[in-house]
Amino acid sequence: MTAQIIDGKAFAAQMRSRVAGHVVRLNEEHGITPGLAVVLVGDDPASEVYVRNKGRHTIQAGMSSLEYKLPTETSHADLLALIERLNSDPEIHGILVQLPLPEHLNADLVINAIDPAKDVDGFHISNVGFLATGQNAMVPCTPLGCLMLLRGHLGDLAGLEAVVVGRSNIVGKPMAQLLLCDSCTVTIAHSLTRDLASICRRADILVAAVGRPEMIPGDWIKPGATVIDVGINRIARDGKQQLVGDVDFSSAAGIAGAITPVPGGVGPMTIACLLANTVTACCRAHGLPAPKGLTL
Ligand code: NDP
Repeated sequence: MTAQIIDGKAFAAQMRSRVAGHVVRLNEEHGITPGLAVVLVGDDPASEVYVRNKGRHTIQAGMSSLEYKLPTETSHADLLALIERLNSDPEIHGILVQLPLPEHLNADLVINAIDPAKDVDGFHISNVGFLATGQNAMVPCTPLGCLMLLRGHLGDLAGLEAVVVGRSNIVGKPMAQLLLCDSCTVTIAHSLTRDLASICRRADILVAAVGRPEMIPGDWIKPGATVIDVGINRIARDGKQQLVGDVDFSSAAGIAGAITPVPGGVGPMTIACLLANTVTACCRAHGLPAPKGLTL
């Protein structure tokens, strides 16, 4: 079997253009422009690239983008004061604090200071609870992107056996919740799971979110399974730097029914879902229905 490649880049481009369409309608019919504020503390080069990309895509979608760059030594008090200001600004519908924060700042405290209705990353404790109880949550962008790809590829997920490898608050746990909401039978595996190979082999849907280059070989995959590889790992191969996932793509592609590549799979969906969440937050703030197909 040769797996179908799930083209996250193309799917994300379609999603961004649907977002842009909604932004035009919000503007023309209601005079509203969705606004996203991104807060970056410190000068981590990878975070600076992410923030730049987010800003560029936000503007391309017709929304307003505000970037706040604060020095590494910023105090809790100053950061919380900025968040409070953004919480009460009616022109701002989404607030994202780029993680990781410098070590002296408590990320939980900072994230939980964001108004849950503007928490477009979906990390606020209230949104975690809303997702777990099937209420109107802001859903974390990467797992939401994975779910969109799965629904786009498989349609109805009900009854399928899903295995999520990784239990982080950012990817693994919300991914498992989303699959459960879509009526999959879900197993969450982690570093202490026994016999991971046999657990992976029973998955109709296998989501790998570990951060270990190519740790899942093809012979851990059920023939015909749909594989979503969230991992982004930088390795040196043949004297070159290369990005690889948590799944060994070359052996997996011969066994899976469909698989996301790295790069070009889940990665582009994360920003597309951030834009979608900002539009959803904006609609909810104005008592308008959230656009279909851009949220759960
Ligand atoms: P974390 O490090 O927070 O979590 C990793 C998880 O993997 C943990 O739950 C850990 O288990 C588990 N794990 C580690 N080793 C093993 C093992 N040998 N067997 C089984 N499970 C194991 O990572 P994240 O969830 O933040 O990210 C995971 C990957 O996804 C990374 O490569 C990251 O770069 C990528 N990522 C990609 C995004 C995108 O946009 N495409 C966005 C976010 C992340 P335990 O809890 O027991 O320690």
